[in-house]
Amino acid sequence: MKRVSPFTCFLLNPGPVNTSLQVRKALLRGDLCHREKEFSDLLLKVRKNLLKSFGLEKDYLAVFITGSGTAALEAAMISSLNPQGKVLVLSNGVYGDRMARIAEIYQFPNRVLRVPLGEPFSLEEIEKVLAEDHKIDAVAMVHHETSTGMLNPIEKISRLKSMKGKRLILDAISSLGGEALHFKKSSIHVCVGTANKCLQGLPGVSFVLVRKDAFEEIKNFPPRTLYLDLRTYWKEQEKGGVPFTPSVQTFYALDVALEELLREHVRGRVQRYGLYAQRLRQGFKKMGLEYFIDSSFHSNTLTALKLPQGLTYDFLHDALKEEGFVIYAGQGSLQKKIFRVANMGNLKMKDLERFLKCLTNVLKKRETKK
Ligand SMILES: *Cc1c(COP(=O)(O)O)cnc(C)c1O
Repeated sequence: MKRVSPFTCFLLNPGPVNTSLQVRKALLRGDLCHREKEFSDLLLKVRKNLLKSFGLEKDYLAVFITGSGTAALEAAMISSLNPQGKVLVLSNGVYGDRMARIAEIYQFPNRVLRVPLGEPFSLEEIEKVLAEDHKIDAVAMVHHETSTGMLNPIEKISRLKSMKGKRLILDAISSLGGEALHFKKSSIHVCVGTANKCLQGLPGVSFVLVRKDAFEEIKNFPPRTLYLDLRTYWKEQEKGGVPFTPSVQTFYALDVALEELLREHVRGRVQRYGLYAQRLRQGFKKMGLEYFIDSSFHSNTLTALKLPQGLTYDFLHDALKEEGFVIYAGQGSLQKKIFRVANMGNLKMKDLERFLKCLTNVLKKRETKK
């Protein structure tokens, strides 16, 4: 049996992703009190570079939260929903359901438009719901539904006639940096991201990008939470401060990751991920593997594949891990039906070529065993 250290595996799960040595080394920059000028300077720099990466310096503000993507998602939703209004949540997967769950837990009036996992929303249906329910003042949805690898058509949805005047809250946690996303064309008001997916930073920091005009409105809503209120973070961050102890070291890592992103450019990264996905899918096809969703909905960063008959996820996972690759299981009802291969992070084409070889061998080995 081959032995590969679990700490040097290629991560083909959708985050945390493989990072560069420089990003990981940043953790060792040193101990720092978050109330000192050095941390303020770092925070301002990271904020500036994040906005700059996506060309948002003029129209958006960025708020950082210590916590995983869900922390920022919860902060974004509960800070930007009006308890007097109503939110329409569009869900076609686990992460859409998570947004619906947040609205329910905090008892925001909501309506959920749910379509089966891996299926596209009907634009007509969205128009219909919005047209008949005038209380709806916000729409919440996921850009890349990571549970199935489906990219939802944010531009088309945001440009529906009935979307006019509605606040759009977007979970772009697994797409920001990995997919083309036109903030202006899609008029996104609130957008949630995290450090440890396509930004290629380390887990521990997530963030919310808020369009400035939307923030003026949001500012007046009553607070629903102490820890996750965006306004509290924003007020402090405007002065270079933070309301609570941040994960200082993961900010060091994000600092380096953003410098790398600025060098590669978001456009370059999107293109690189796109080439990876293309290459992987060529290989999957050749092996006779079947996609879980229609390929026209595929994202740039993840492919969900049906588990071939008689092959368990655990067997596949363990065999590939022995070769140094970590794949990802299906979630919820898909746990026994699919496996997922993501291509985010500091990967090289040659790593993916070797992955395809290993996967081919694992599938063959199973054939001969039958
Ligand atoms: C990863 C992810 C999240 C957040 O998950 P965490 O485990 O909290 O980081 C939320 N939404 C989507 C679409 C994701 O891919």
